[in-house]
Amino acid sequence: MRAIRRFTVRTVLPEALAPLDILARNLRWCWHAPTTRFFESLDPAAWDRVHGDPIALLGEIGTERFAQLAADASVVDRARELAEDLDRYMKEPRWYQSGFAAPGKPKAIAYFSAEFGITAVLPQYSGGLGILAGDHLKSASDLGVPIVGVGLLYESGYFRQSLSRDGYQRETYPLIDPNNMPLTLLREWDGTPARVSLPLPGERTLNAQVWVAEVGRVPLLLLDSSIPDNDPVSRNVTDRLYGGSKEHRMEQELLLGVGGVKALRLYSRLTGAPAPSVYHCNEGHAGFLAVERLRELMEGEEHLDLGTAIEAVRSGTLFTTHTPVPAGIDRFDRGLVTRYLDAMPLPGVPTEEVVALGNESYEGGDPSVFNMAVLGLRMARRANGVAKLHGRVSRQMFASLWAGFDVDEVPITSVTNGVHGPTWRAPAFQEMAERYLPAPEIESGGGWLTPAENGGVPDDVLWATRRELRERLVASARRRVRSSWLERGASPAELGWVDNVLDPDVLTIGFARRVPTYKRLTLMLDDPERLTRLLTDPERPIQIVVAGKSHPDDEPGVGLIQRLVQFTDDPRVRERIVFLPDYDIAMAQTLMPGCDVWLNNPLRPLEASGTSGMKCALNGALNLSILDGWWDEMYDGANGWAIPTADGVEDPQRRDRIEASALYDLIEGTVAPRFYDRDGRGIPRRWMEMMRHTLSDLGPKVQATRMVRDYVERLYVPVSDAHDVLDVPGHEAARSLASWKAKVRSQWGEVRVDYVEAHLPDVAQIGDSAEITAQVSLGALSPQDVTVEVLAGRVGADDEIHDFSTTELPPVDAVGEGRWVFRGSEALEVAGPFGLAVRVVPRNPLMAAPTELGLVAVAAPSTVTSEQHTSFGD
Ligand SMILES: *Cc1c(COP(=O)(O)O)cnc(C)c1O
Repeated sequence: MRAIRRFTVRTVLPEALAPLDILARNLRWCWHAPTTRFFESLDPAAWDRVHGDPIALLGEIGTERFAQLAADASVVDRARELAEDLDRYMKEPRWYQSGFAAPGKPKAIAYFSAEFGITAVLPQYSGGLGILAGDHLKSASDLGVPIVGVGLLYESGYFRQSLSRDGYQRETYPLIDPNNMPLTLLREWDGTPARVSLPLPGERTLNAQVWVAEVGRVPLLLLDSSIPDNDPVSRNVTDRLYGGSKEHRMEQELLLGVGGVKALRLYSRLTGAPAPSVYHCNEGHAGFLAVERLRELMEGEEHLDLGTAIEAVRSGTLFTTHTPVPAGIDRFDRGLVTRYLDAMPLPGVPTEEVVALGNESYEGGDPSVFNMAVLGLRMARRANGVAKLHGRVSRQMFASLWAGFDVDEVPITSVTNGVHGPTWRAPAFQEMAERYLPAPEIESGGGWLTPAENGGVPDDVLWATRRELRERLVASARRRVRSSWLERGASPAELGWVDNVLDPDVLTIGFARRVPTYKRLTLMLDDPERLTRLLTDPERPIQIVVAGKSHPDDEPGVGLIQRLVQFTDDPRVRERIVFLPDYDIAMAQTLMPGCDVWLNNPLRPLEASGTSGMKCALNGALNLSILDGWWDEMYDGANGWAIPTADGVEDPQRRDRIEASALYDLIEGTVAPRFYDRDGRGIPRRWMEMMRHTLSDLGPKVQATRMVRDYVERLYVPVSDAHDVLDVPGHEAARSLASWKAKVRSQWGEVRVDYVEAHLPDVAQIGDSAEITAQVSLGALSPQDVTVEVLAGRVGADDEIHDFSTTELPPVDAVGEGRWVFRGSEALEVAGPFGLAVRVVPRNPLMAAPTELGLVAVAAPSTVTSEQHTSFGD
């Protein structure tokens, strides 16, 4: 019978066990193994039933059992000790407080993301983007970085995946009950739930309440529209992640961005938390946060004009892009955005001007489209991609926003992703390491190379632990395969073979991730017979564990899963290759440490970073991957393998064939032989060397603490510094920057390089210098408004100057009528074909970079010859 109403009955804990509630509510338990183990010890069977969820566990334990536990001094003491440990963790100075010096450190940083993957218990993620956001918060907590997360609370998260008999993905959407989760409702002083509301078209209002999750020291605010005051459509805005119509998606993103800023203000008002000086927009979904901040400034006491407000908002904003796949970028019909923004107009500003902030008004863009990444880039002071290669690809991808500048100058830098060590290193691996090495050495990588005689981890212990992790994966895979087959309609009697699925001594290759086509789930099936031979090799067999969800609307992705599942159903190989449904954090935590080799074969360069291989590296597993994303910069020839790519090959099938064949060759010729090459004690010596090298060298680089420190030092601090100049009461600097930009934009049509003269010695050689004179027209601008610079560097056959350096030419003369002469000398420092170019760019110390306005006037470039006098102009 269907319940007519659902509510949660809270457990009342005995006084002596009160600390359990504190421990269960702060999500730090999910990366603090001693706390997790303690919960498990309270009732191991119940812990299993509730899939490791402390709040659910407390609901399962009966009053009688609680009374027993409360009478057990060791339990009571342990609960108190762990709560004291948590309290210390929350209060003690950490890296940000004591290890990091910067004048004017940000007091608060807001981190907006559409998804957060913190634990399987809080299913608010679909894949890498969410897990990354979760790892970012956890590491910020460990480092003491004052971040506050902002996201949405989806009633049924992403979806639960199962399979039909014929291997077709089935989706179900179990509802979550926020009252039964580690969440606290934000309340007004009088106890009523605090609310944000947004006006929507057609006189609708979207209300949301705000839940707070404690992620260690980091609060995470999650907006929830499922409240009775909302009309039925608004109530469903936060129903699920990435589902529904464009309007639905639009309303989610407005709630995240606009509602998110409102939620931050509520949170500050009710808790006294400081207002952020940095707004980190993690991918485009939260881009509307800028619109709400514009409104605050324009409707506030100072009534800023749009231009000034834009300068103020940009000053405190960082935008991170996560996809090099144009189809992966969030785009809306302009008309749709206009309709929504019309319902929340900025004072005195036609909506068109706000919509223009996200327009693809550049060459190659689609003027009918509103692009969330473009909005993000235009409204941010700094921007970054998530691996070095992805930074390069992003600069290329968005180059038309900065037309006239060199691709290398496009102001998008990169911070390579990382993963949260305590979440992703298997507890058994961590405990083994701690028996031999001090914790800081495990993290810094130093200890892994210490010989056993000097106290390092002995080979046989390390290898035995690796086997233990593999064995756990095998056991868990058998359970999952069995329950999947039962769901697919098999009877238990048919499933005897499942006890032989996988072998704890066979080379185990893992492949798990979302299933967009560019990740090529089925590349391994390119030659099914060859794969079958590798799986069933009598001497050196391999086994493969595969998992991944496809977005339900992605038909090709769903088809790839079906193809793979049907291959794994074949009795010839079903004991050596398995597809495990319902990939999530909990599965990942067993899967990645249990694999010997982690396979990644995306279509280069479409993988922005990828992080699963990093999680494996923390456990000593080796990567076998296309040189894409993070692996492109971290593969060093000895820490795993690079699958050669057929980058230039246009025909996708041919490219797949070439790359698949290279993959089989590597497994057959190198990976498997090395794994099975054992010494007298059964230890694969050379494999072990690669493992230790991975642990010592990759281990420290792939940590999210490294990533968060990079963000703090390279991006948060500069952004916060700019905010403290441009977004402070009075807003003088923002006003002056805005009016200066308006002037420069209006005059730029007049700006050009009239002519350039370069005087060179007869035969130029290294150490000589060229004297360069440029006459420049500036219209009504003054020489102080611009930089005239020489770009000098090696030229290729195409006459393009590569790796150039720039030298500023100072103004020396006024010629009249807005014309000025600039002169300086350029040292010749590179031998060989050499080129010079001269250009004018706007100059204002309040800008983050000369590229900021996207304006540049370039003199026609020309190769400098050894002639005494070269003249070139436009
Ligand atoms: C790490 C992780 C991902 C991301 O994996 P990629 O390698 O970045 O594709 C996705 N889902 C889960 C459950 C993960 O743990």
